[in-house]
Amino acid sequence: MDFHVLTLFPDMVRQGLMTSIIGRAIEEDIIRLNAVNIRDYTTNKHGKTDDYPYGGGAGMVMQAQPVYDAYKAVASQLDYQPRVIYLTPQGKVFNQQAAKELAIEKGIVFLCGHYEGIDERVIDEIVTDEYSIGDFVVTGGEMPAMLMIDAISRMIPGVLHNQESADDDSFGDGLLEFPQYSRPEVWNGRRVPPILLSGDHAKVDAWRREQSLIRTATRRPDLLPSAHISPKERQFIEEYLKGISVNSTCNTDEPIV
Ligand code: SAM
Repeated sequence: MDFHVLTLFPDMVRQGLMTSIIGRAIEEDIIRLNAVNIRDYTTNKHGKTDDYPYGGGAGMVMQAQPVYDAYKAVASQLDYQPRVIYLTPQGKVFNQQAAKELAIEKGIVFLCGHYEGIDERVIDEIVTDEYSIGDFVVTGGEMPAMLMIDAISRMIPGVLHNQESADDDSFGDGLLEFPQYSRPEVWNGRRVPPILLSGDHAKVDAWRREQSLIRTATRRPDLLPSAHISPKERQFIEEYLKGISVNSTCNTDEPIV
């Protein structure tokens, strides 16, 4: 997968992604990062890439010409028509499902805005998708692009060395993940749930599943309608939420402390 990022701040993107797991995947050539400086493509002799908005108002607008030429330079190197994603608070909100779908692309071009945004005409001309990272505004599209690249990369085989962990992660099956614990068994007076020390894998799996169901039902009930849950599990959730003493596969009510 090739990630092309059109930005005024290519170093920020490189530095942000060249560390840890994603950095290793880039070094191992499982994914490729091409951070393109839009400023390199301006025809303005002072290197300007933005100007005042027509109609007045605060801030500056990134001009169409350098963005378009940067895109053309990238696209001319490709033997396919890439998806071009504009990061914008006005786009559809990015989620795990979108990360999965985008992970099968051969390459993606990300377009990062800054200041008040980008001249609408070049967006109309080149952009195929618009994504937001949530209902808030940040100063530029670089961090949103990095977040998306990280989430998409985790879905690409070979990026995570232990692929299982991506399947278990929150949203993998539409549920939030169960709580995790590591050594020591007792920390600050808090004990690891005894079932996790039992060595009984079936019971551990059942406990974890229950915890996922409970967490999702209490923290993100909006996820439940589309989650992969059996009728029995739905009944378990209903009874749990009603406070009915549920027939738990293991004793989840046991206090942790
Ligand atoms: N004036 C724009 C508006 O109100 O829609 C916001 C401009 S914002 C200050 C500058 C740039 O940051 C945007 O062009 C976009 O690329 C990026 N950005 C800001 N918030 C974002 C979000 N929630 N998701 C994705 N990109 C965002």
